[in-house]
Amino acid sequence: MSDKITKCIKVGLIGEPNVGKSTLVNQIVGEKVSIVTPKVQTTRTLVRGILNVDNTQLILIDTPGLFKPAKTLERYIVKNALAGIDDSEVICVLIDAKKGITPELNKIISNIKNKPLVAAINKIDLIKKDFLLGLAAAINELGVFKEIFMISALKNDGIKELINYLTGQAKISPLLYEEDIYTDTPVKNLAEEITREQLFLLLNKELPYSLKVETEKWEDLKNGDLKLHQAIMVLKSSHKSIVVGAAGQKIKEVGRRARLELQKALDRKVHLFLYVKVKEDWIERELV
Ligand code: GDP
Ligand code: MG
Repeated sequence: MSDKITKCIKVGLIGEPNVGKSTLVNQIVGEKVSIVTPKVQTTRTLVRGILNVDNTQLILIDTPGLFKPAKTLERYIVKNALAGIDDSEVICVLIDAKKGITPELNKIISNIKNKPLVAAINKIDLIKKDFLLGLAAAINELGVFKEIFMISALKNDGIKELINYLTGQAKISPLLYEEDIYTDTPVKNLAEEITREQLFLLLNKELPYSLKVETEKWEDLKNGDLKLHQAIMVLKSSHKSIVVGAAGQKIKEVGRRARLELQKALDRKVHLFLYVKVKEDWIERELV
C-alpha cells in the first residue's frame, strides 16, 4: 500500500443553461466528457469530470441549469441538479460575462445554502475589459462569493487559476476514483447523449423534450469496431412520424450525423442502428 497523502474535492458547477458548464468540464478534463451544444437544456444527466493533479483529485459535477420547473421532465432535471449540489463541497457558479447578474442568477444563488460559493465569470473573450471589471465589482458586492474568477472556458483563459484554487480547497481523503478515469458517466450514456443531441439539433422545435435514447445492444466487434443499437423512444405515434421523416430521411440523417460524432468521441469505427419506439409512459416511469 502506498502511504502518500491524497486529497479530494467535489465541485458542483451551477449556472444558467448555455453559460458554458460543459465546455469548462471538457477544458479542465481535456476530453469530450460533457456534450456541448449551442442549444439550451441538453444536459440531462450529471456528468463528472475528474482531474488528477499531483496527489489531488478534482471531481467536477456538471449539473443541468437550474430553472423554473414547468414540465415533468424539467422537474426531473431540476431534481438531478439539486442532487449535484448536495453532493458537492464547493459550488462554482458560472456567470455569463455578457448577461451579467440576472434574476435567474439571483434565484440560483439564493437556492444554495451552507456551501462555499465561488464565482467564475465565463466568456470573457466576448466583452471589453472595462465592462468586465465593473461586472466583477458588482458580483463582489453581492457578498456571497469567496472568490471571483474571470475565465474563458472556450479559449482556455484563466482556467489554471480556477483549478489551483479548487485543488487548494481539497481535504485529505483516499482517492475516490482510479487515477486513469476521467469520467464516471458510463460510456453508453455518453453515446445516448450524442444521438439525443443530434435529434435535438435536427428536429429543433418539433420535439423539444419528449424523447429519449436508450441503448439496446452494445457489441464490441473483434476488429475493434462498435456495433451499437439504440432505441429512440417517443410518446406518440405522431412523434414517431416526425422523427422518421418522409421516406425515412430524418432518421437517416440523424443516424449519419450521430455516427460521425460517436466515432469522434469514442475514437473507433461505429456501426449505428437506430429504431423509433412509441412508449407512452417513459417520463412517468422515470419519476418514480
Ligand atoms: P452549458 O449549457 O452551461 O453546459 O453550456 P455549454 O458548455 O454547452 O456551452 C454553450 C455554448 O457557449 C457553446 O456554444 C459553447 O461553445 C459556448 N461557450 C462556452 N464557453 C465559452 C467561452 O468562454 N467563450 C465563448 N465565446 N463561448 C463559450
Ligand atoms: Mg451542458
